[in-house]
Order: sequence, then structure tokens, then C-alpha cells
Amino acid sequence: MAFDVSSSKSPFNASTERVERVLCFTAHPDDIDFGAAGTIAAWTAAGVQVSYCIMTDGDAGGFDPVDRERIIELRAEEQRHAASLVGVQDIHYLHERDGYLEPTHEVIKRVVELIRRIRPQIVLTMHPERNWDRIQKSHPDHLAAGEAVTRAIYPAVENPFAYPELAEAGLQAYKLPWLWFISSPGSLENHFVDVTDHVD
Ligand SMILES: [Zn+2]
Repeated sequence: MAFDVSSSKSPFNASTERVERVLCFTAHPDDIDFGAAGTIAAWTAAGVQVSYCIMTDGDAGGFDPVDRERIIELRAEEQRHAASLVGVQDIHYLHERDGYLEPTHEVIKRVVELIRRIRPQIVLTMHPERNWDRIQKSHPDHLAAGEAVTRAIYPAVENPFAYPELAEAGLQAYKLPWLWFISSPGSLENHFVDVTDHVD
């Protein structure tokens, strides 16, 4: 689902030529790979700088009981590898605990901080509403990621008086043009990207 933050009604129609930077927020290492890898490969092939912010360490994930003490490191390695396959090197972590992500002000402030630092034309994140057709898409951390990022974008990213310590540190308010969601409830889908050239 693509959402024009400035008008709040028109579907996506901006040309990719205008997009120089994209910042993706997901809950776990691997969400972005399942959710948008083809779209990201198309962006990086077009010269767009794409950054990831993974909000938890994914420490409760994986299905293998072996190597649990290495799980964070292992998933970070896998995320680095998956990102490099689609042309992404810039990966940030918020290091929240897997399964415990909430849209707290502490999390929202760190989201605001990163958006103001990178100043992307598109933020891509997970949809904050539950998909009743397939609840695995709507892990509570996914909903929390989408909610935290959406709350950050309006009003805090564009409001210089929200978290004033950020502006004092030189991170000025910024009006984001586009917010894109993956894993939307089906009835809300309004944008599709042709990834035929990037399926491999
Ligand atoms: Zn996930």
C-alpha cells in the first residue's frame, strides 16, 4: 500500500527518477526479504540508495533449537547477505527484543532520528493493521513496527518541536513525501511493483 503523506488520498504516481533515497523499517531480520526484496532490487538497479532499519534482533525467531546463543549474530549475518544480494549495504538495528516491540516514545524517537538523518523520499514499513486472511503476516511486532513508524512520520518527523533535542542536535524537521506499506490487509492494497526483471 502506498500513501501520499502530503495529500493523504492519491495513489502512488511519482516517477522513480525523483526517488534518491529509501529507508525501510521492519520488525525482524528477514521481513524485508520476504516482503519487498524484488522492489528493493529494482530500486538499487535504478541507482536508488536503500537503507534498512531492523527494529528487533530477531532473537526469538528461527525454527532450529541449535545455536540459540548465536541466533542474533546468525540472523544479522543472514540479513547482511540477503541485503547485499539486492544491492543494500546500509543496515541499522534498534536492538529491541524480539516479541516485545511496542510503539513507545523511546522507539518512535529513534525512528524520527533516523528518518531525519537519512531524509528519504520513501519510507517503507509493515502495515499496522492486522491481516485476518493470514495472521502470520501480522505478528504483533510487525503491527508495532508499522504503528511506531506511522506515528513517527506524523507528526514528529515534520514537527520541529517534537523531541526538540533532535533539532538541537542538528536533525531538522523533514516532510516525508511517501509512506509505503508491505503486508497490507488485502482490501487496502493500492500499489503493485512489477519485479519480473528481478525475480532471480
Ligand atoms: Zn517478522
